[in-house]
Amino acid sequence: MFAQASACVRCQELAATRKNVVFGAGNADADLMFVGEAPGASEDEQGLPFVGRAGKLLSTLLGEIGMSREDVFIANVLKCRPPGNRDPLPVEIENCHEYLYRQVELIQPRVICSLGNFSTKLLRDDPTGITRLHGRPEELTLGKRTVRLYPIFHPAAALYTPRMLETLREDFSRLPELLAMPEPDQGGLEVPQMDDQPDEGAGPPDRPGGAGASDADMMGARGSEVGDDDAVDQLDLF
Ligand code: URA
Repeated sequence: MFAQASACVRCQELAATRKNVVFGAGNADADLMFVGEAPGASEDEQGLPFVGRAGKLLSTLLGEIGMSREDVFIANVLKCRPPGNRDPLPVEIENCHEYLYRQVELIQPRVICSLGNFSTKLLRDDPTGITRLHGRPEELTLGKRTVRLYPIFHPAAALYTPRMLETLREDFSRLPELLAMPEPDQGGLEVPQMDDQPDEGAGPPDRPGGAGASDADMMGARGSEVGDDDAVDQLDLF
């Protein structure tokens, strides 16, 4: 699937302008998965998610709850950077959502933390914004997997608004408690095998995607800065 996504040309503009496809990174057996919006400049440079300023904040917040990036898997709604960090377009979300659903099926997290509006709206298939939903866990069935969805503010928004950072920190502090809860009932459905082939249209039929692209009641989720970390070999992704 990584190879498939890396060669993806479903979105002509994104395929033509990206430096790297940012597939996602972290522990492929993680109980906790974060889903952001789309790569920014640093992420596009390095081929890794959340390596810019928002990513540093995410790492700090994880550290505060005794976790590190090696414990979690981090992905985005879009795997390619929208030029100039513009918002993802509905058609791009539609083109890309299958990769995210497939990642959820393979990683089988117990908790998915959606960061900001785009991932929250896509995963819930509903236009309700993050301001109303943050900090409220809910059960969500995505394809064959029932998870606890935990929407929180995007760390990029908290970089500029101290009050939002406080809220984000409070919401973050509930993560250990959510992870300690028993796994949501899987309804007796089979879990996918690791050697399952990604198939076209792997996203669940009741979740067409595209719900994330209406108004965003937050600031831009991606900085334009380019990080100074060394490029990381893609083989270190997991
Ligand atoms: N913002 C995102 O939503 N994702 C990234 O990977 C980086 C910044």
